[in-house]
Amino acid sequence: MKQLWAPWRMAYIDEGLKDQGCIFCTKYREADLRAALVLAQTQHTVVMMNKYPYNNGHLLIAPKRHESSLAQLPGEAFIEVNEVLRQAVEVVHQAFSPGGINLGMNLGKCAGAGIEAHLHWHIVPRWEGDTNFMPVIGETRVMPQHLLDSFDRLQPHFKNLSA
Ligand SMILES: [Zn+2]
Repeated sequence: MKQLWAPWRMAYIDEGLKDQGCIFCTKYREADLRAALVLAQTQHTVVMMNKYPYNNGHLLIAPKRHESSLAQLPGEAFIEVNEVLRQAVEVVHQAFSPGGINLGMNLGKCAGAGIEAHLHWHIVPRWEGDTNFMPVIGETRVMPQHLLDSFDRLQPHFKNLSA
């Protein structure tokens, strides 16, 4: 576990998402939520899979409100996001039994945020010896099947999500 948190990697991951507009504002409104990789949502929060994962089961959790400032996020939404975060950590434990989990956020471009306009948290499951796991997805537009496999594995656990 040499690289517990790799913000440069997160920048790359977020970079890949940027050209689709604000995914945190649009994806949960799509008709096909599986294709959109939206696992769950509550009144103020959306839980998605990262299309450009750092590791298997990499989740993104965001308030639905398009907000860049943590201080400007209404308390009600902040509390709900945090409630969803801790439940999502449990879901990842149940679904993947990782050795550990990185949970965090990148605030601002120089901290590695690609979508700095919309607050979001990363949940990255970790396994011993996974530091060399660097999936090269590049420019491909085909959604790798393993993402949908992971989606199907995670999604039933989110049916009990409460906020
Ligand atoms: Zn947004």
